[in-house]
Amino acid sequence: MASTADPENTPLTRPKLTADALSGQVDLHCHSTASDGILSPAALVSRAKSAGVTMLALTDHDTVAGIAEAQAEAERLEMALLPGIELTARWGKRVIHIVGLNVDCRATALTEAIEQRDRLRRARAAQIAERLEKRGFVGAYEGALALAGGGVIGRPHFARWMVDEGHVSDTAKAFKRYLGAGKIGDVAVSWPELEDTLVSIRACGGASVLAHPLKYGLTRTRLQALLADFHRAGGDAVEMVCGQQNPVQTREIQALVQRVNALGGDPEVSDEITRPPLLASLGSDFHQPDQPWRALGCVRLPAGVEPVWNLWQTDGITAQ
Ligand SMILES: [Zn+2]
Ligand SMILES: [Zn+2]
Repeated sequence: MASTADPENTPLTRPKLTADALSGQVDLHCHSTASDGILSPAALVSRAKSAGVTMLALTDHDTVAGIAEAQAEAERLEMALLPGIELTARWGKRVIHIVGLNVDCRATALTEAIEQRDRLRRARAAQIAERLEKRGFVGAYEGALALAGGGVIGRPHFARWMVDEGHVSDTAKAFKRYLGAGKIGDVAVSWPELEDTLVSIRACGGASVLAHPLKYGLTRTRLQALLADFHRAGGDAVEMVCGQQNPVQTREIQALVQRVNALGGDPEVSDEITRPPLLASLGSDFHQPDQPWRALGCVRLPAGVEPVWNLWQTDGITAQ
């Protein structure tokens, strides 16, 4: 059984990559029915293969339940699959997402991190349902639970249930009226902190990636503070490209990362503490086929950045 005793010294697990892993598109962020995606893990892998993806990471929200099925399909189709996860975390009062890549799914540290979030999610789902029921939406809990299909329950399942029941015409309206920020279904959760989340990922041999940095609604100054905290706390990479992204935004993130890297991990004692520079990751954040702006394999890193897979570089494989 994997140990959680000294995560600082836990080496990164090296994935078994073939030389072909980097011969096509790389996509290190996507979702299956194990969380809030529409496709089963096997269907997702098969779709990625058709889209020209040669290395895929399945990163469901707070679960690795889909990994075994995805892995089996990836082996059948001879493509590289990295076991991953997207962990929900807290930075101050903000909810942020940290992708763990190439995690050891059997590690105690990962199981604990998942169970902790599962308890929080279930408590939140019960509270959302209670509030919705008070507003007359009877059966919300059972409905959302059924749609989650035994997977991780989240607000998107409530949104889909509301659409299926004819309460709203689409999921966007469900969020706008009932589930989004400031609405009755917006139940605050005290997610595990950023630092603890990074420790969990490192303890299961994974590399940590700050997901979609531009989606937190932060000013540039706050975003730089987040990147600096992430770096200082041991983060490995930043998602420089997430889905179809304006090149101007990509350059913005690139510049922020360069600035944080130049600080060496600690702005106050920069010459005493030096962390390895933040690397670059990329992913579509695919959830469902009818969202072309986050289609599988639609992403490519800009020139001049060091990709996250250099952490695992093995003989015979070179970056694209
Ligand atoms: Zn996310
Ligand atoms: Zn995601």
